[in-house]
Amino acid sequence: MANIAFIGLGNMGGPMAANLVKAGRKVTAFDLVEASRDQAKADGAGIAESSVAAVKGADVVITMLPAGRHVLTVWNEVVPVMTKGTLIVDCSTIDVESAKQAHALAAKHGMLSVDAPVSGGTGGAKGATLTFMCGGEEKAFAAAKPVLENMGKKIVHCGGAGAGQAAKICNNMILGISMIGVGEAFALAEKLGLSHQALFDVASTSSGQCWALTSYCPVPGPVPTSPANNGYKPGFASALMVKDLTLAQDAAKAAGAATPLGKHAQEIYKAFDAAGHGGVDFSGIIQHVRSLAAK
Ligand code: NAD
Repeated sequence: MANIAFIGLGNMGGPMAANLVKAGRKVTAFDLVEASRDQAKADGAGIAESSVAAVKGADVVITMLPAGRHVLTVWNEVVPVMTKGTLIVDCSTIDVESAKQAHALAAKHGMLSVDAPVSGGTGGAKGATLTFMCGGEEKAFAAAKPVLENMGKKIVHCGGAGAGQAAKICNNMILGISMIGVGEAFALAEKLGLSHQALFDVASTSSGQCWALTSYCPVPGPVPTSPANNGYKPGFASALMVKDLTLAQDAAKAAGAATPLGKHAQEIYKAFDAAGHGGVDFSGIIQHVRSLAAK
């Protein structure tokens, strides 16, 4: 049974740490926020007074933090004091460059490291059904897999350092673009007098079929579990979609890739966010699309 240090107990990290406890792991947790530490304690984790204290005696260290700068701050604190050969896994969604820097820091101090961003949202974090997209050496991935299996149902090794983050932002760029496309199709269908159900029945079994339509339909009715049936309560907030599309644009720029639709999708989500809808589920972008017709 590995001793696990878990740093970052927010909307995702809190329930992920709780699932490690449920799986029988000994978890020592830390977050800057007292309420999050209290919740982790109630879930059965031991609480440390700092990140550095949390990693003492740990076999595996996991971070789940907002952005690259937070990850590099915490890794710079903890990696130098970890026992040589310890595994450190970052599950946050961060820029590829910071992920590579974090791996380099771990390698310099003789640690095994994995970038392992997730998809599945807070529901997946609570239900231990997340997908983990992993980057790092084979040996590090093999060590991380059994621990990640306590928090998720699909664990994919995508390649070397940063490959997990690369897979995550490419996937979410597809998602952001396709959700706008599906929203536009429903907005056009409304103007043409075509019912939501009729478009769904045709497109879901035709060449327009995609996850944004069949699993997360942005109009109420056809897919009862989609946020459209619940006032567009997230789910996956539009502000997080802006974050991921911006990471994709940063990576495209750095790598010299052309992503014209990814750039346009980023601009559309940014406008929705700037209008005060950052907390609305990203499928609510259909409301923004409809509002453009009135202008
Ligand atoms: P969150 O803001 O709820 O949690 C982040 C936590 O990190 C906070 O509790 C904060 O106090 C803590 N923190 C920040 N700096 C710290 C430090 N130096 N030391 C200790 N704790 C620190 O965010 P979240 O929704 O849990 O998301 C975490 C990551 O997962 C993000 O990178 C996000 O993009 C990604 N993600 C989120 C979702 C989602 O649906 N929420 C889905 C997939 C991926």
